[in-house]
Amino acid sequence: MVRIACGMVALAWVGAAHGAEVTLLSNARVITMDSARPYASALAWDDGGRIVGVGDADELRRRHADHVALDAGGRVVVPGLIDAHGHVLGLGLTLDQADLVGTSSKAEVIERLQAFEKTLPADAWLLGRGWDQNDWPEKVFPTAVDLDAAFPKRPVWLQRVDGHAGWANSAALKLATRDLAGDWQPGGGKILREGTQPSGVLIDGAMNLIEGAVPSISPAMTERALDVAMRKAASLGLTGVHDAGVSRAELAVYRKLADAGRMPIRVYAMADGDGAAVDDLCANGLYHHEGGRLTMRAVKLYADGALGSRGAALLADYSDDAGNRGLLVTEPEALGAAIAKAQRCKVQVAVHAIGDRGNRAVLDAFAPRLRAAGAGDVRWRIEHAQVVALEDIARFAALRVIASMQPTHATSDMPWAEARVGAARIVGGYAWRRFRDAGVVVAFGSDFPVEAVDPLLGLYAAVTRQDADGAPAGGWYPDQRVTAWEALRGFTLDAAYAAFMDDEVGSLAVGKRADFTVLSRDPLREEPRALLQTRAIATYVDGKSTHGAL
Ligand SMILES: [Zn+2]
Repeated sequence: MVRIACGMVALAWVGAAHGAEVTLLSNARVITMDSARPYASALAWDDGGRIVGVGDADELRRRHADHVALDAGGRVVVPGLIDAHGHVLGLGLTLDQADLVGTSSKAEVIERLQAFEKTLPADAWLLGRGWDQNDWPEKVFPTAVDLDAAFPKRPVWLQRVDGHAGWANSAALKLATRDLAGDWQPGGGKILREGTQPSGVLIDGAMNLIEGAVPSISPAMTERALDVAMRKAASLGLTGVHDAGVSRAELAVYRKLADAGRMPIRVYAMADGDGAAVDDLCANGLYHHEGGRLTMRAVKLYADGALGSRGAALLADYSDDAGNRGLLVTEPEALGAAIAKAQRCKVQVAVHAIGDRGNRAVLDAFAPRLRAAGAGDVRWRIEHAQVVALEDIARFAALRVIASMQPTHATSDMPWAEARVGAARIVGGYAWRRFRDAGVVVAFGSDFPVEAVDPLLGLYAAVTRQDADGAPAGGWYPDQRVTAWEALRGFTLDAAYAAFMDDEVGSLAVGKRADFTVLSRDPLREEPRALLQTRAIATYVDGKSTHGAL
């Protein structure tokens, strides 16, 4: 950073007149996402972090004779990248768990667990996350027995990559909050059994039976996890995250970090279901921290499960599992009641829906309430909108429901997604292009830690629908690719819109916050493959660096 003092007289005058020091970033290729001025070479902001000029450097230098000068070295500046669906605590805790992502066999899982176990106290549970039986040769769910030889005493609990199934060893099954034997099933979930005995895998709502037995997370652990995860997000170019499920206790920890100025990103927290956090919003009003980095004004509800574990609710049977149509994890009546309560409290509604039946259930619940007179600008969202009946895509547009989608889910799921739903239904799967063309606002995110946090990987997936090796050639259902500009918009302006923050962030324009990301390469001009080599060199929030520096 180079400081230029343009003479004491000017400094004194500007100081007296405005009381604000201006920082002027020049020699930049600024992609503004502002249709009034899509490109610029310079950006200026005041010491409150608000943009006071977007244009060319000479013009801005004339207007702000005294300024702190920053040289971007010809690099690309984009509006701060926003992940519209992530799990910050989950990411932080994942860094404290065995990482099983990408394991190619059960033997590899055991190896990684044994290595990780060396870091644990004798009485601790061994927790892990990220396995996917679709990546193993046998492609079937594992069992407790697979873990028991290596871990006869220590309880082991391993979440599937999508977070919608868990795999326990026998020691963990014995500690369940209820005897798992028999032929009963919990609401909204499924215990897989061999005869009357649990096999070791529990799906969706059944996972609570083990999770209720895992020693709970202390506020100190939560604080450490949020801190680590937010710094990780900033280091990858993110200036904001919509945190899809935050409890009252977790919000208190966030608030402490915000009070202490320890929020390197803006967190748009969604209350975790129809519980204590949303009750607080109803009782006390929507929550905005005075520092502008923490908001809670939305609630995250669940309609169904996930596709990988066949918990997503489908209108007809799974193509690879006759008789199974997945699960509605919230009964329509309870979902409707939670939505009605949120609407009364003016809380934004965001509902997880993956299968075509799950999405339709949400649209059916939304429709009468959104059509009612005086519904207003509520920006209700469906999280994932992953496999949607084609005729329902137009309903998103008609009801002005936001599709909050995750491009990397498509490229992670493409090896097996069509087997789950068949050739006809996959046409409405991960169909960003169809949503955009229908006039739906599509906000992009990653669902980290289910997928990697890096938003450049999301941009790459959105534009190519290919994996990192460039497969399949031409992209998976390439008619659903979006342009690089559209992808960037999904991670900036449309994500901001989905959080009622488009007046403040999402594009670079006078009056907005100076939240921006400096990239090593130009995502709009270079070949899509270059996105995989593109790095966030620096991240700025409110005009201050949160990662790297110029
Ligand atoms: Zn999620």
